[in-house]
Amino acid sequence: MLTAYYNGEIVYAQQAANKNVYLCPACMQQVILRKGNLKIPHFAHMKNSDCINQQDGETNEHLNGKQQMIEFINPHPAKLEVYLKEINQRPDILMGNLAIEFQCSPIGVKRLTQRINGYQDMKMRSLWILGSNYRKKFCSTSMNKFFYYIKGWGFCMFFWNTHNHDLEMRFNCQFVNSKLRYQKMFFYTWDEFIHKLKFPPKNLSYGHNIDNLLKELTNIRNKIFYHDKFALKLQNLCYSKGHDIAAAPLVCHFQNCTTPVVGRKYLYWKILILNYLDNDLQVEQLYKKSIELLKISESYPLIKNVDKFKRQAFSDFLADLCKRGYIIIKENNIYVKKYPAWFHDYYQKIQYIIMKV
Ligand SMILES: [Zn+2]
Repeated sequence: MLTAYYNGEIVYAQQAANKNVYLCPACMQQVILRKGNLKIPHFAHMKNSDCINQQDGETNEHLNGKQQMIEFINPHPAKLEVYLKEINQRPDILMGNLAIEFQCSPIGVKRLTQRINGYQDMKMRSLWILGSNYRKKFCSTSMNKFFYYIKGWGFCMFFWNTHNHDLEMRFNCQFVNSKLRYQKMFFYTWDEFIHKLKFPPKNLSYGHNIDNLLKELTNIRNKIFYHDKFALKLQNLCYSKGHDIAAAPLVCHFQNCTTPVVGRKYLYWKILILNYLDNDLQVEQLYKKSIELLKISESYPLIKNVDKFKRQAFSDFLADLCKRGYIIIKENNIYVKKYPAWFHDYYQKIQYIIMKV
């Protein structure tokens, strides 16, 4: 940590002298001043300390990033490592009612949720900015817990780069034909960042690309080939209806964009819906029946009403089926006008796409 108590006052490690006794603001135990060549000056707990807020073994990235963020926020007042004893938490930076966390080390969704809720209990909001280790894992589903949803910008995530001293905002994160796409923007001051947020981009759509469609198709076939558990389960269901998952109707690929909430499961979901499509089925029945197998994660502690995004993905696909003349929806009942045609197999489907689409 960069700050500690000396004679009841907060001091910065940079300005601290070696001879003094410093205390941790959270546990009030003595901490050691470290001024070496490898890391910037900081305080560390003694070995065997049981402090909950202990961040010993803090990386240089974390120490540097916190200091850089204070400069980023300047001229707005912000404080480093303020201990909030009501919730026993210590945000990296406190800026009025906003807690800013520069998360570099691994954290589970349960612990993250507790900390977000802690701030909420204090009527505070929290901004989670991620370090370099997380940047490398961006496409992994374990990152979903850090997503924000910002109106006009879609699903967003934030990163700090200690080499360039900048805030990176990845926005409009969407799965397009099962692949995560995003746009990015960099900010060098807090004011620049806040100002920009008022002017969201006009167009958030990614459009169609035949190569992506073919990749999606090959991917689902490979999943079967390599015995992916979920894909096999769905394949069995398709077989029971006389279909092959890799030969699903083309209409499964047209409504191709979805939020990270549904993500890579969107294609499976659309195939499930087509399998269950039946006359006089109610929309809500179809929703419940088809989503059951998917087991979509609800772990989005920074987003309100995750359910809304699932329902959106579902109704987008139904709307596409209506538009293309396959179904009609009247008073929440579904009437099938014609069933979308399944291909004989994967090869026939590929050939058709290359020739016609
Ligand atoms: Zn402590």
